[in-house]
Amino acid sequence: MTDSVRMSLAQVHDTARRLLLAQGFSEPHAEAIANTVTAAERDECRHHGLFRIAFYVNALKAGQASGEAEPTLTDLAPAIVRVDGHNGFSPLPLERGHAPLVERARAQGIAALAVNNALNVAALWPEVERLADDGLVAFAFVSAIPYVAPYGGIKPVFGTNPMAFAWPRPGRHPLVFDQASSMSARGEIQIRMRDGKPLEPGWAIDADGNPTTDGKAALAGAQLPFGGAKGSAIAMMVELLAGPLIGDVLSVEAGERDVAKTGAPCGGELVIAIDPTKAMPNGDLARQAEHAERLFSMILEQEGTRLPSDRRYRARERTTKEGVDVPASLHASLMELLAG
Ligand code: NDP
Repeated sequence: MTDSVRMSLAQVHDTARRLLLAQGFSEPHAEAIANTVTAAERDECRHHGLFRIAFYVNALKAGQASGEAEPTLTDLAPAIVRVDGHNGFSPLPLERGHAPLVERARAQGIAALAVNNALNVAALWPEVERLADDGLVAFAFVSAIPYVAPYGGIKPVFGTNPMAFAWPRPGRHPLVFDQASSMSARGEIQIRMRDGKPLEPGWAIDADGNPTTDGKAALAGAQLPFGGAKGSAIAMMVELLAGPLIGDVLSVEAGERDVAKTGAPCGGELVIAIDPTKAMPNGDLARQAEHAERLFSMILEQEGTRLPSDRRYRARERTTKEGVDVPASLHASLMELLAG
């Protein structure tokens, strides 16, 4: 028996969509989540691919998420659009907010999308890459469930709070980075525990605040921010931007809401878009792009470097032609869910 099943991206999308529909998601939600899951498989970001379907389904079954909520859009200011997810998952609200955000950013030079009351268990690069594909510089911020202790402390306060950034490169894929503010992903700790492997030193502390490489002790204690006090400050900034600024929850509050412990937090996301043609006096996009390329060249001429997102684009080229290898156990569990 082989330990993986080869699927085309069309099959990944179709499986995800049918499964979500069968579990009670509406057509627009099933389509939007299937798009997100397929993009993650395509770019070999597997923690956010088919593996995540269980998070979407479990939160729905636990009654903590709506599978049908229609997002509603409101203008908070000429350059700030709000989309209320009404307790649905974030891919659909983000999809619905995209065009208004682009339109406002082009009109005003800079604009923001405040997503409220949406469950986010996805990566952030899809929303910023999509904006950069439309020629905009973009940022996104999301808080999560409290797993991470502030620098110097021992009790979790922050989520693994990711932030993402995208820079358009005319004629090429945008430059994108998308990173958690913790040393490791939560899922990576769970995978190491499953495989009986220790954690890397520096990832976590136990409940008494002692450094640990034991997964169980880490889950009972806290994960650590990357980069000491500096990563802790970034995690705090993400909390403020995705929570209080836009009238949404802190990670601690999202954790309290997750009564069934599904690991799917309901809260806010802030997305910011800047029109680069309006960010300098003569809007000389060609000069601006050339200037940025100088930076990228200086990085890439050094051996051992690459640009963030290059790995994803290489994977994308390959998987679009060849499909993806899905672990047999995951494939079997999806088929079981599909069969009801
Ligand atoms: P990684 O540490 O894998 O990567 C972070 C960034 O660094 C990526 O942009 C990656 O680019 C880049 N990178 C990695 N190695 C190199 C290198 N050698 N040279 C240049 N750039 C490099 O990601 P994280 O574990 O921090 O986060 C994983 C994902 O989890 C993110 O997508 C994040 O949004 C998501 N997440 C979501 C949460 C939620 O609540 N929704 C919570 C926490 C995380 P590349 O992609 O090309 O490898």
